[in-house]
Amino acid sequence: MLVKNLRGIFMSYHMWINGEHTPGSSGNVIEVHNPATEEIIDTVPAANAADVDRAVEAAQAAFPAWKKLPAGQKAELLHEVAQKLTERTEEFARLLTLEGGKPLIENKDEMGWSAACFRYYAEIGRNSRGRVIPSIEESQLAMVLKEPYGVVAAIVPWNYPILLMAWKVAPALAAGNTVVLKPSEMTPLSTLLFAELLAHLPPDVMNIISGYGKECGEPLVLDPRVRVIAFTGSLATGQRIAQLVAPQMKKLHLELGGKDAFIVAEDADLEVAVPGVAWAALLNAGGVCTSTERVYVQESIAPEFTERITDFAKKLRLGPGLDPEADMGPIIGDQYRAKIETQVEAAKAQGAKVLTGGRRPPKMERGYFYEPTVLTNVNHSMAIMNEETFGPAIPIMTYRTFDEAIALANDSKYGLGANLYTYDPLKAKRFFEEVERQSHP
Ligand code: NAD
Repeated sequence: MLVKNLRGIFMSYHMWINGEHTPGSSGNVIEVHNPATEEIIDTVPAANAADVDRAVEAAQAAFPAWKKLPAGQKAELLHEVAQKLTERTEEFARLLTLEGGKPLIENKDEMGWSAACFRYYAEIGRNSRGRVIPSIEESQLAMVLKEPYGVVAAIVPWNYPILLMAWKVAPALAAGNTVVLKPSEMTPLSTLLFAELLAHLPPDVMNIISGYGKECGEPLVLDPRVRVIAFTGSLATGQRIAQLVAPQMKKLHLELGGKDAFIVAEDADLEVAVPGVAWAALLNAGGVCTSTERVYVQESIAPEFTERITDFAKKLRLGPGLDPEADMGPIIGDQYRAKIETQVEAAKAQGAKVLTGGRRPPKMERGYFYEPTVLTNVNHSMAIMNEETFGPAIPIMTYRTFDEAIALANDSKYGLGANLYTYDPLKAKRFFEEVERQSHP
């Protein structure tokens, strides 16, 4: 049951445990802010260990029957989730923009990708029970049978709340697991609303709890009934969870932070490379795990590339994500903007040159906005080149040879993604083979 709140805009959201909307046991709440206005838009329960216990118990109780349900029936139920996501795209996208700040168009995309994910795994589940392999003895039948684990804890960050939820929940359910899902405390509203799309599933199969990392996330990952942890978030939190659960030898799936390089070769078409690099660095105000965070441009084209991308960044319009004119929304919160500001100021103190941006937009007094920022004269001793920024910064270095570009791309503790613009297939081949994907913090 959802209740209209005093501010009248939204409902007060409850958690979803045991197939019912339920308040937290402590009565404590989390205030959810609109990052474009800094206003509180709603509150959600702040779950504690007792709430986690109830949610895990419910998921565990649901497991035997869900595991046995034929894959075809599971697939139909998951397709129905996808259908409801599609039908309610506008409503969800609006809520995602209000709590997370992304421009509306990007959240509509997120809804489409999420629905596609449920459809995809519905069919993968139908097709993936196992296989029969040739045996070496006439009397043997050799089979590979895929079995679900049991209760999966799905922990999600704020930047793509519904998509990253879908990437965990859809495969887990399709394989026959049950789930306890915890969204970010900064963007829980759309995830709690998602409970409305689950009413056709057997109760308890999916449980959603809202809470902070320490009070809710840690009891969840430490609960011995939780067999798999599917986590997306920062490197530091991933390391913390890995340490916490190591004695239990749990199955861990960690999707963590990055510092993606973008190499622009001398043959790149700047008509493509300039908007392409800007998009890769500035989508969701830089709040994408695979955002471009370091740009390496061959020195012969660097002056023209830098001038053009600076002009491009200057023309981008900042504004609330619900404004159809806005190209870029706010940063999710003050502490995230402070991290970007600290990195830019430190880089300046170490000799970096800011060609545009590097400040809050002077005319926007409310909201956690920060201008798209292009920097040169940067090097790898600067935090802006060696720590995740997660903000709208484009720091540019030049290189002479392609060997040098690959060495620069690899000079990072992060793995995750990397990008290259070239028409030269040999460079592309070397890039695929030589740029490292493993992080080594
Ligand atoms: P975060 O690590 O602060 O939080 C992520 C989630 O973990 C939240 O739900 C949070 O409440 C929870 N959490 C925090 N401390 C916890 C603890 N001790 N135990 C259990 N749960 C805990 O990350 P964030 O700031 O919300 O998200 C941004 C980060 O996520 C960035 O580093 C970004 O690169 C990363 N990310 C990675 C991917 C990927 O696929 N690799 C995708 C999106 C985001």
